[in-house]
Amino acid sequence: MQWNRSNVLGLAKVSCCTCHGYGLRVVHKKREVPCHCVYRAIFRACYNRFRDCVANGAQTGTVSLEFCPGKEGRRTFSRKKEEYIADFCLVSRRELDEADYRIFRFHFLLGADWKLCCRRLQMDRGNFFHAVYRIEQKLGRIFASLEPYSLYPLDQYFGGTIRNERPHPLPPPPAIRAPLIPYLQLPLAEAA
Ligand SMILES: [Zn+2]
Repeated sequence: MQWNRSNVLGLAKVSCCTCHGYGLRVVHKKREVPCHCVYRAIFRACYNRFRDCVANGAQTGTVSLEFCPGKEGRRTFSRKKEEYIADFCLVSRRELDEADYRIFRFHFLLGADWKLCCRRLQMDRGNFFHAVYRIEQKLGRIFASLEPYSLYPLDQYFGGTIRNERPHPLPPPPAIRAPLIPYLQLPLAEAA
């Protein structure tokens, strides 16, 4: 995902102390990167869609037709909701370490509130919410930067992206010149 002011402005938190609603923060004096509040907003958007997909789990069974890029323009059937649920869980499991994944599992997947999580994980409230913010920032950044198909933006994930550009052929490999082998010069008498 290309980060610029246009696509972070709507995600930034107006009351953010770091970016003040601008959405970008400056690192190394001149380079601009998305603020943490943008990553958290991305995670919450993905998480809300995950909850919707799980809540409608009993009604799944429909498949959607998806366009495949390429010259032939083929189409394929897919189960987007199930794929999204699996992607959300598997990417989170892969990217978080053991301690963070326990918090993620209890709080986000199983739906325990902070009191229950703190009692179960034996943490205080401050450390718990610091960990939740850290998890949201990390997963939000990863969900938006997955290659080649990211979980965010959600409309592209569920609507599919049709790419019209044609694939460019690879350039031919450089010609390899075989070393010249001198002919064997034999005297005429031996050759006969
Ligand atoms: Zn911010």
